[in-house]
Amino acid sequence: MKTIAILGSTGSIGTQTLEVVRRNGDIRVAAISAGKNIRLLEEQIREFHPRLACVWGEEDAAVLRTKVADLPVKILSGMDGLTEVAVCGETDILVTAIVGMIGIIPTIEAIKAGKDIALANKETLVTAGHLIMPLAREHGVRILPVDSEHSAIFQCLNGENGRDDRPVDKILLTASGGPFRGRNYDELREVRVEDALKHPNWAMGQKITIDSASMVNKGLEVMEARWLFDVSLDQIQVVVQPQSIIHSMVQYADGAVIAQLGTPDMKLPIQFALYYPERRYLPGERLDFAKISSITFENPDMDTFLGLRYAFEAAHMGGSMPTVFNAANERAVSKFLHRQIGFTDIYDIIHYCMDHHRVIADPDVAQILDTEQSVYEMIEGRW
Ligand code: NDP
Repeated sequence: MKTIAILGSTGSIGTQTLEVVRRNGDIRVAAISAGKNIRLLEEQIREFHPRLACVWGEEDAAVLRTKVADLPVKILSGMDGLTEVAVCGETDILVTAIVGMIGIIPTIEAIKAGKDIALANKETLVTAGHLIMPLAREHGVRILPVDSEHSAIFQCLNGENGRDDRPVDKILLTASGGPFRGRNYDELREVRVEDALKHPNWAMGQKITIDSASMVNKGLEVMEARWLFDVSLDQIQVVVQPQSIIHSMVQYADGAVIAQLGTPDMKLPIQFALYYPERRYLPGERLDFAKISSITFENPDMDTFLGLRYAFEAAHMGGSMPTVFNAANERAVSKFLHRQIGFTDIYDIIHYCMDHHRVIADPDVAQILDTEQSVYEMIEGRW
């Protein structure tokens, strides 16, 4: 029996991870964490009986302690609590389904403790990929991708990830293009929060849904893929495939292209990561090729969806610049969701912050977190 811990068990990925656990019945959940949603966390504690549970604020932790006083669970809070969840003694795999750069330190500690990582949290590799991947190699830890595109690439690499003699030519990272594909920049200015929250194919958390609409998400995925699969940026090509049937592809040196296809269901990559290298039955809809009238491809429009353009620029600059890109976007998306700024202001904010940052080459964790703070300060009061 495998034992897992989940950072962000109350979110979109976290709850779907627990669905996979519920359905299979042979994974034990030793530790879980949430930000503020103590109502759902309590339900999860009662159903899955973890030994540890963590919420961000100590006040919420105190309330939760009273609510679950009848159970043998230790309630933790803050960064110390998140880290205790991440390194929890008996776990084999840590699922990082937390949103934001807050996931970096607990993930590093889990790797040092020898836990395999089922990685959903984008910010970990985007901002600290240069630290995480060597650390994982040093500790013999596997980084198992949960994001559907990275899982697809991982599956197409067919066990060859990490081999030096891997004959990979390029990674073809697919994108749906989001709800605004085909619109021009002026039309993007008029986009409202409700429109941006309607993704055509995937049901996800709010932040990543906005990131998909702006194509910032694809940019973050490019940055992750570079570290995860040890390829150069020139070996990553973004291909728009609006039907979201192909989840990504790998082109090999002989010209062969291997693609992973399926219905859009995050439970597949989650289950694949939890049981890798075993592939298990997963109930659900199957692709019906007789009913698929077409699978189409196009290049991304980087003159309209500037988020993707800036992401490539930030990735090429490297060092602390991906952190700037990520932090500026995170704050801008929050302002957009609170209706304080328009949709294209997200791009303006990212551009402004990148323009006003002096790159730190090879930043350590403290410098990454300082960079994040300095970006927040740069934005405050200006927008
Ligand atoms: P959600 O917003 O749905 O969930 C985020 C989780 O993180 C929740 O459990 C939330 O708790 C918790 N959290 C938020 N802030 C804090 C905090 N300060 N301290 C502790 N916990 C906190 O996000 P998603 O599940 O959509 O995404 C999670 C990560 O996975 C992101 O990095 C995203 O980019 C990535 N990802 C998501 C995909 C998806 O399909 N959703 C696909 C691929 C990657 P609470 O509920 O209490 O707020």
